[in-house]
Amino acid sequence: MRAEIISIGDELTSGQRLDTNCQWLAEKLGELGVVVMFHTTVADDLAANVLVFRQACERADLVIASGGLGPTADDLTRQAIAEMAGVDLVQDDASLAHIKTMFSRRKREMPASNNIQAMFPLGAKPIHNPHGTAPGIDFAYVGTSGKSARIFAVPGVPAEMKELWEGTVLSEILKLREATGTKKVIVHHRIKCFGVGESDLEGMLPDLIRRGRTPSVGITVSKATITLRITAAGENELAARATMQPTIETIHQCLGNLVYGEEDDELQHVVVRMLRERKLTLAVAECGTGGLISNWLSECDPAGDVFKLGTVHRSPFSAAKHLGVPGELARGDQSHSPDFAAALAAHIRTFAGTDLAISIGPFPQADSPTSVPGEIHFALARPAGALVKSSPFAGHPEILKPRAAKQVLNLLRLEMLGTTIDN
Ligand code: AMP
Ligand code: MG
Repeated sequence: MRAEIISIGDELTSGQRLDTNCQWLAEKLGELGVVVMFHTTVADDLAANVLVFRQACERADLVIASGGLGPTADDLTRQAIAEMAGVDLVQDDASLAHIKTMFSRRKREMPASNNIQAMFPLGAKPIHNPHGTAPGIDFAYVGTSGKSARIFAVPGVPAEMKELWEGTVLSEILKLREATGTKKVIVHHRIKCFGVGESDLEGMLPDLIRRGRTPSVGITVSKATITLRITAAGENELAARATMQPTIETIHQCLGNLVYGEEDDELQHVVVRMLRERKLTLAVAECGTGGLISNWLSECDPAGDVFKLGTVHRSPFSAAKHLGVPGELARGDQSHSPDFAAALAAHIRTFAGTDLAISIGPFPQADSPTSVPGEIHFALARPAGALVKSSPFAGHPEILKPRAAKQVLNLLRLEMLGTTIDN
């Protein structure tokens, strides 16, 4: 079964609002094994809406539209469906009664403009909207060529869109799937990796990322975190998950400790989990990352059980003044050295009285494509002494800070695994 998602509204086409409905619906359809071939976004314009609905019904079996069901003059979805199908709009008394009740419960008079929300293209079924005044529209379209498509139009308000999906649309699509013999479910699993570039990682996974492979493996990168997304189909969820198991095992074998987690895991979640399991406490001293590491860790450890203290040093001298880092290391080039990072970690550890401490020194001059990149230095202090790493400060400005923060957390993770590798 092929689907198309239509998102309707000037606020979407003008860029004032992000189309989150489409993303949500596409994921839900994907879970049902329905292939989404097109996402269409259209302004509040009747002719454009008629065109878009006609096109969608000619190329998809299932059309899910959101938006344009309000009572105002710019809400045109019901008119567009009626015009496209060549039918009149007719009143549904039960829907009108529901809308009137919604208003009287709020002790308000129903404005005449809301009458339109009880009007449906002839032959359509209203979709009950428990918390809103706009019912959805369930319409079975048959074109002059005989091509048919099922349209579900739901309100744009995300909470209502979801409620109508859960309450009605989902079960109707399951019935359609049953009728068309499409019974497969699709499942996804994400494996999260850090420590190498995207193409290096791809090179370590022979043949897995090839298009057309089943289960398929997709690779995306965001701020130096690489996500492998495995997709498999099966008769039911259990069967689909079993199909992807060998692929998951191959990925783990090929990547080893480059894999740090799965699904929504970020490095800080994993690090806090590991510290807790080992009953270890941590302190952090940051220069270049300006508190980013502390912020991430505090979000994962709201009670402060493992992450005890975080400091941000806007100049190396503040590390000398407040933590007792030797003054000569804070001066000039010396602060941009592995020794400064190591001293920073050692001193915050002593100051905080924690089992472990991590640090990152100041960032060098911003990277430019023509200059030789500087280096960042970061360290881990532990009972056995400090461990220091350095890394080039090169890349798009947007990723420099989060990547540096992740490098420090990854150093800590690998140390706790007992396998500190270069990263
Ligand atoms: P409508 O049903 O067109 O009256 O939309 C009602 C409100 O829902 C709009 O003002 C938007 O704030 C929101 N909305 C509509 N469509 C979307 C969408 N595709 N994604 C996220 N929000 C939306
Ligand atoms: Mg709208």
